[in-house]
Amino acid sequence: MIHGSCLCGALQFRIDGRVSDLHRCHCSVCRKATGAGAIAILATAARSFEWLCGGEEAIRTFQRPSGWTASFCPSCGTPAPRLHENGKIWTIPAGCLDDDPGVKVAEHIFVGSIASWDHVSPGAAEHEEWGPEPER
Ligand SMILES: [Zn+2]
Ligand SMILES: [Zn+2]
Repeated sequence: MIHGSCLCGALQFRIDGRVSDLHRCHCSVCRKATGAGAIAILATAARSFEWLCGGEEAIRTFQRPSGWTASFCPSCGTPAPRLHENGKIWTIPAGCLDDDPGVKVAEHIFVGSIASWDHVSPGAAEHEEWGPEPER
């Protein structure tokens, strides 16, 4: 069981099942949205994800004209889990996790846009822009 939460505690969830390896996106949009060099995301099946506090109605979203969407806690601003449009997969910012997910960084995407002060993990795949769809 892997637990996760936002900074203020309004959002709390748990994952009971397999999670994907991590991917990190270094694009300029993710950089602004997180305030960090790259966001780290993992995925889990919808059936493995459960809200313990808050939920989709408690989350605010911001969408850019391109369709890129950020979900976050309206009280503390922590990036929040998001249900994929297909309804089958939750994508979860790894920084929200309170337990070790036991996975590694598998790939870096948008390395072509990486900040001059950032770097990639040794051994992980690197893609200039989008990588292949991760296995789920
Ligand atoms: Zn919060
Ligand atoms: Zn990105």
